[in-house]
Parts: sequence; structure tokens; C-alpha cells
Amino acid sequence: MKHPCKYHPGTEALWYCAHDGLHLCQQCVDGDEDHRMEARCLLCNHDLAPVGQDQVGPLWQRLDHYLQLPFALPLLPLLAIWAVLAALLPPLWMMVPVALLAGLPTFAFSAALMALRAGPRKSRRVALPGWDCLGESTAWQSALWQALPALLVIGLAGFLVVAVSIPAGLLVGGLGMLLVPALWLAVLVNGAAPGAYAAAPTYMISAPRDYGVAAGFASLGSVLVVALIAVAMDVLPLRFVQGLAGLLAGWWWLVLAGLCGDIAARHGRLWGLNQGGRRVTQPLAERRQRTQLCAGRFDKVLLTTAKVIKTKKATVGDWHHHDRLLAVLGKDEERAALVEPYLDVLIRADAWSEALALVARQRKRDPQWLPGAPVLRLALAEGIYEREPKLAVGLLKDLHDKHPDFADLGEAYLLLAKVLAEQFGLAGKAEQYLRFVESHCRDARLRQKVAECRDAWA
Ligand SMILES: [Zn+2]
Ligand SMILES: [Zn+2]
Repeated sequence: MKHPCKYHPGTEALWYCAHDGLHLCQQCVDGDEDHRMEARCLLCNHDLAPVGQDQVGPLWQRLDHYLQLPFALPLLPLLAIWAVLAALLPPLWMMVPVALLAGLPTFAFSAALMALRAGPRKSRRVALPGWDCLGESTAWQSALWQALPALLVIGLAGFLVVAVSIPAGLLVGGLGMLLVPALWLAVLVNGAAPGAYAAAPTYMISAPRDYGVAAGFASLGSVLVVALIAVAMDVLPLRFVQGLAGLLAGWWWLVLAGLCGDIAARHGRLWGLNQGGRRVTQPLAERRQRTQLCAGRFDKVLLTTAKVIKTKKATVGDWHHHDRLLAVLGKDEERAALVEPYLDVLIRADAWSEALALVARQRKRDPQWLPGAPVLRLALAEGIYEREPKLAVGLLKDLHDKHPDFADLGEAYLLLAKVLAEQFGLAGKAEQYLRFVESHCRDARLRQKVAECRDAWA
């Protein structure tokens, strides 16, 4: 990893903000994840410069590395399988397709190799896929869609060699092979489906130099293979020639897979391949806030959260968040001023413990404090009277003095009577409030309840 993200130390940075001097990952920028061509900084809103593409020199400088790749120990059995099966078949032209089928394990390995090289950087610590890739249906699907165009070109060229002339066959084969890497990349990037082929021109155009290396190898390499086989035919028994053809085919296939895989690794970001590991899942607003918090821009975050809690959609979490920020920033006055609306949100969410904690906090500042609005008092008392009967009594007791017009006064005093009688055993006091309800409220339902209470306490 060249540069970790400033705020996600485990993630590789894909962007650099020149204004803030920060390396940032995809989570920490405002950008389209599928086309990682441009993004903006969540802190300063400036355009960002992409970073993190491995530039290890042009692909052709490492060509020898790719040519040797099939001889790596884990891949040798693939060459052997193809060579041996091809050699064992009876020497008939009709057996050519069957001999190509012997390449199936190589096809699957190549598909897995490309997927491995092009995938997230973390998994790229393993250089080669293991044999378990042969058990994956995705590897097989990609393998078959990738093998199809290559086999078509081979088949067509072979037919022309037999039916027309050797130069015509070589020419068509050589030209056809120029397209094969693009089709392989198309399947690699877009998945194993026939529609994927349509994107092939993109990969030729957007990485012309590296593509040239792969296409050149695909074309010249295949002609070279054919030439070698032609020479071998004159000096070796046919069975050995068939084995050699299988071996060379396997070599060509794996070299090209290595090249295509590394092209995807270098340029995949332009094509929307996800190489940064985790995908961006949080919404932009949350990520912006997180980044601003990480950067210590509390005032900026506070502006946002203050706006959020004014909306109807604000959740308990939003309020909690805003409250915490105010606490961190030492804005006690603002915090105290917001206690009633915060309490209202907590009550509506039935978050009684938090509501009690909030009341306790406010009463520490001002021991006499109780919420002013009678609706809030009643709602709070209804929620907490079993846990905090004393507080409930405090909330309800002289409501008729302060708020004579409160519509639910009868309800409130009924509750107060209940608390007094059931929690404190003060039946006499409770009776006073019941009488108040009887004399002041015309509501038949309330009168019914009063009667019920008297029955229960008698
Ligand atoms: Zn980040
Ligand atoms: Zn910035």
C-alpha cells in the first residue's frame, strides 16, 4: 500500500487533496464509485487528484516475467495435462477439437488468475490461484466465455490453412488474436455474459500501450507457436508434436492471462473494477460528517446537525449526536436551551432511561427545573411514574395553578391520584385529586375511571 487513507488507516488511498494535503479513500470523498475518474473533497469541496495506481513501468519491460509465468511450479501440471492428453489422442484432424478440450483446466486457471490479479489488492498477496478455483462455477463461466473467441479464431485459422492456404490462415489467425485480449478483459470486467463482449473496444482505447503489448503477444505468440509446431512436425514423431502443441497452447494461454490480469490491475479503476477493497455503503451525508469529525471540523458538523434536528425527520440518534457534539465543544448554554425539544423527542420514542438521564442532568444545573410544557410533563410522568414516582408527583402536582386551560388536566390528576395512592399509600390526598377531576371534568370516561379507582382502593 503506497498511501493509506488519512481517516481509514487500513484502506489504501485512491485520491489526494492538494488543498488539505490529505490522501483519502473512496469512503472519504464525494464521487461516483462506478466511474472512479473524478471526486471532490468532503472537507474543502475541491477536485481531487487520483493516486494509488501502481506504476511499475510499461508492461513490455516486464514481458520476460510474463513469458516465464506458466513455468511457475503450481501451473506446470496444467501444461503437462494439456500436453499429455493431446499426445495420447489418435492423430486425426477430427481430434483437434478434442485436443483443445484438454485445455479446460488451463482455461479455468487463466480466468481465475485474471480475476485474482484484477481483484482487490488485499487478495493479491497470493500470486497464483489454487486448484480450488476449478470448483468455482464463476471461474468456469468466465473461462468458457473467454475461451470461445480464442477457439473460434484458432478454428477459423486452422480451416483456412487446410482449405485455402497457409499464409491466409496465419494472417487471419494473427489478426483475430489481436482482439482476444480485449474480449478476455471484457468478460473479466463485465462478467460472463455475451453482452460483455460489446465493451471490448473500451479496453483497447483506454490503455493503448499496455493493450498493445498483450495484443502483440497474443498475435505474434500464436504465430510463433504455429511455426514451432510446423518445425517440430519435420523432426519429431507426430505424437510428440501433438504433445508439444498442447504444451505451447497452455503456455500461450497462461502468459496472455497474466498480461490481461495485470492490465486490469493497472487500469481497472478506469473501468469500474473495485480494487479498493470495501465498497462504499454509508450515505454521503454520514460519510461527510464522519470525515469532518475525523478532521476536527466540529463547528462544520455542528452546523449540519443543528440543521438536521430542526427537521421533522430527525431521529433520537440525530439529537443524541448533536447533544454530544455540544457537550464536546463545551457549549453548555446551547445544550441547556435544547433540553425541552430533546426531551420531547425522547418521550415520543419511549426512550425513558435517556429521558430520565436528561432531566437529571438539567436538574443538576437547576435543582428546581422541570419541563414547562404541561403536555410534556404529562407524557413524561406517564412513562416514568413507576420508576420515579417522586418525579412524577413533582411533574403533575400543581398543574391546575400554572396551566388552568390544559386540556388533559383531568387525565393528569387521575394519574397523580393513582401514583399517590398506589406508590405512596396516600389515599386521602389521592381522593382530593379525584374530587377535583369529578368537579372539573365533564368527560364521562374520566368519571368512569374515577369510580374504578375508588373501587380498587376501597
Ligand atoms: Zn477513508
Ligand atoms: Zn480537501
